Amino acid sequence: MNKKKVISDFPKSFYKGKKVFVRVDFNVPINLENDSIREDYRIRRALPTIDFLIDAGAKVILGSHLGRPKGKIVKDLSLNIVAKRLSELIDKKVVFVEDFIGSELSKKLDDLSDGSVIMLENLRFHKEETENDSGFSSELAKLGDVYVNEAFGTSHRAHCSTYGMTKDFVDKISGFLVDKELSFVSKMMRTPEHPFLVIIGGSKIKDKISALGNLLESADKILVGGGAAYTFLKANGVNIGDSIYEEEMIDWVKDVFNKYKEKIILPIDHIVSKDFNKSSQCSISDISIPSGHMALDIGPKTIELFNSIIKGPGYIFWNGPMGVFEFEQYSSGTIHVARAVALATWRGATSVVGGGETIAAIRKAEVLESEISHMSTGGGALLEYLGGSSLPGIEILD
Ligand code: AMP
Repeated sequence: MNKKKVISDFPKSFYKGKKVFVRVDFNVPINLENDSIREDYRIRRALPTIDFLIDAGAKVILGSHLGRPKGKIVKDLSLNIVAKRLSELIDKKVVFVEDFIGSELSKKLDDLSDGSVIMLENLRFHKEETENDSGFSSELAKLGDVYVNEAFGTSHRAHCSTYGMTKDFVDKISGFLVDKELSFVSKMMRTPEHPFLVIIGGSKIKDKISALGNLLESADKILVGGGAAYTFLKANGVNIGDSIYEEEMIDWVKDVFNKYKEKIILPIDHIVSKDFNKSSQCSISDISIPSGHMALDIGPKTIELFNSIIKGPGYIFWNGPMGVFEFEQYSSGTIHVARAVALATWRGATSVVGGGETIAAIRKAEVLESEISHMSTGGGALLEYLGGSSLPGIEILD
């Protein structure tokens, strides 16, 4: 893919007085009990782009989705709370607009002063958004003179705000975050520094096979933990007790294992339990898991083994937790891996961590954002891109 234009490729004067529609990904987790934002990382990550445009004198129109309202107005999924948080972060008024379709908004925007910031209500309150409806696309397009994509995590979707509306724009540019995502991922796909280490976890392999297929070729070592490891172990004839695995992936895994045996490192012990809950009794099991037990984290010997490999320098890509890290007693493997990746980064490795769960795990391990080279905001989009799919929201950019 050719390099995409980024907002700083144009002089600031280009934006002065223009209405710039920025598709952001403010799909943040909300605490419904006290109506607060649990984690504002995705908002903070868009600030360099928003600040740049304000400073350039643009009128910044922000569009995003939040959750899955499925075309209906869902009060708990209003972006009003996000507009307020953004206003605090940029120390500036953010005009929140609920009704932006078929209204006079476009003309009203012309009257706003340069540097104003407008946040639209949840785009997915309109069912047309995800249907890539041409009428809805045109309505959105009327709101801006320039289009900016700052929502890498939604770029694999051909929705109105990521795809359909862009045909009405001459200038379709990437924001700083999308540009950073693309440069890290392209580098990883084309010329990663070696040793190139891939760490895969999480519950499912199925969503990750295209990405894994591509990475296996260039990686020097692949560490497999989390639920994903048990399909590998079962395919190797190891007793996995009641641990999760994907029957339909067994043949694929056998194939991959035959081809890349020397590269793939699997857990050699586990933390197991008879029950899946946050206060369940647990114990350490060696590689073969007793029947009636499920593995919910990697064991201490595996942590030691993985730690000895995650050293740096080189390139490290990590996607998916090593266990059910949401429960305290099964979080040790993930926390150790997070800390090892941070240490490897200090030793000169380039580290890319992707997927919402993995970023939550980084927080739990008290690893700082600055200790990871790049924390990708794209889960599904990242995996699709790594798997070689073209992302509609990226393809349309200049
Ligand atoms: P994914 O979306 O595929 O990256 O999966 C993330 C989820 O995998 C997390 O919520 C973990 O709780 C879960 N997970 C990780 N390891 C295991 C395991 N051994 N058994 C069951 N679930 C797991």
